Amino acid sequence: MQKKILVIEDEVDIRKMIAFALESDDYQVIAVEDGNAARQVINESIPDLMLIDWMLPGISGLELVRGFRRSAATRTVPIIMLTARSEENDRIDGLDSGADDYITKPFSTRELLSRISALLRRAEDFEGATQTLQAGEIILNPASHELTIGGKPVNPGPTEYRLLLFLMQHPNRVYSRSQLLDYVWGEDIYIEERTVDVHVLRLRKLLRQFSVDNMLQTVRGSGYRFSISTSQ
Ligand code: CA
Repeated sequence: MQKKILVIEDEVDIRKMIAFALESDDYQVIAVEDGNAARQVINESIPDLMLIDWMLPGISGLELVRGFRRSAATRTVPIIMLTARSEENDRIDGLDSGADDYITKPFSTRELLSRISALLRRAEDFEGATQTLQAGEIILNPASHELTIGGKPVNPGPTEYRLLLFLMQHPNRVYSRSQLLDYVWGEDIYIEERTVDVHVLRLRKLLRQFSVDNMLQTVRGSGYRFSISTSQ
């Protein structure tokens, strides 16, 4: 089925260039110039992926991403941020706001298309998981994307969600940052290993609210492990 991509970019030339490239690659494209127009589109139907420019008039791209992540309808929609800013801190801010990937202008359409297809493939891989997982008080239902800890509903960001899902599927094993990048982010995604640490910290902070953060262990010099006691 044709995937629908919502592009939010105020610069008309870039917007047209992206729309043309995506349509040529057989995506359905809706390209808008700001957050208000994007919200109207989303009210009618949820896209399969969003490309969001950082610097937008009115509501910034970063604020938009945060808003989309808070809303149940758009929480799991993959997001790539477009930006002219290549500073490390900006990149971390972008991912921290809930974006899944980040692409710096100027970029080639080939690079953009490869990032999009990697992200869509990854989203599909995770949608394929249906078996409810339990680790102590943590219960995750991949079919409905519902996570509860101690019976309380929890709403992690999409990357934290996938990270937790992967770790719950593969407990008590140590994974290096580069392995987690391959398994959770996807092999075609070129992001730095530090990104893994950012999302592990965020997931741990969430687990800490329920005093179960001790399950997500740092293995010095090796990586991370999700530890489930087998003596229960
Ligand atoms: Ca802009």
